[in-house]
Amino acid sequence: MLVDTGFGLRDIQSQKSRLSPFFIALNNIQFEQKYTAIAQLEQLGFSAQDVRHIVLTHLDFDHAGGLEDFPNATVHVMQSEMDAAKDHHSFIDNRRYQRQQWDEVKQWKFYEAGGEAWFDFEAVHDLEGLPPEILLIPLAGHTRGHAGVAINTMDGWLLHAGDAYFYRHEMNADKRHCTPGLQIYQWMMEVDRKTRLFNQDRLYSLSCDRDKDVQLFCSHDAIEFKAFADQHHS
Ligand SMILES: [Zn+2]
Repeated sequence: MLVDTGFGLRDIQSQKSRLSPFFIALNNIQFEQKYTAIAQLEQLGFSAQDVRHIVLTHLDFDHAGGLEDFPNATVHVMQSEMDAAKDHHSFIDNRRYQRQQWDEVKQWKFYEAGGEAWFDFEAVHDLEGLPPEILLIPLAGHTRGHAGVAINTMDGWLLHAGDAYFYRHEMNADKRHCTPGLQIYQWMMEVDRKTRLFNQDRLYSLSCDRDKDVQLFCSHDAIEFKAFADQHHS
């Protein structure tokens, strides 16, 4: 199972037809094959066929671009996110959602929150075909149907918070702060500021609560991610 896919091979090959020039220019995207999920998995000795499930935090161009590199995977996402990706009108939404990145997915599973809460958060339980230790946690604001992915491990809960925050010191710190650049990017990309900040505040509280034993990480902080990877490989 993968959580998100980053950019895919087709994004590398046809950047200009697959992605918005606005974001190519703004985000300084490093279009190198070795950074794609498929290349990294092959490096680890796996093949595309080994990926049977992809759980998406949301459908932004920088998360969904590699879906078509895994043609046999079932793709799981919130229903509200697919609705937003199919029907949008704003300047940003017209550029963030790139239908050609996901129009060849053969098997979708769409969800709404329900059932037992996860700490103070709503949750989606029992994703089809996946073990019960994996939950979707709706965290709207960055997009309409944005969600985190919680995994119950033997060492406590892990929460992939997606783009619910962008910088490690927004969580788990005495003095919460964000870099100005990432702050502006989050403002630009948000669809609902009130909900986004409400969710970010709740995540912050969760990250500080030692009793709850949840470790968080986000999509876009390479230093935070490396600290996690080192810790979990040792
Ligand atoms: Zn992102």
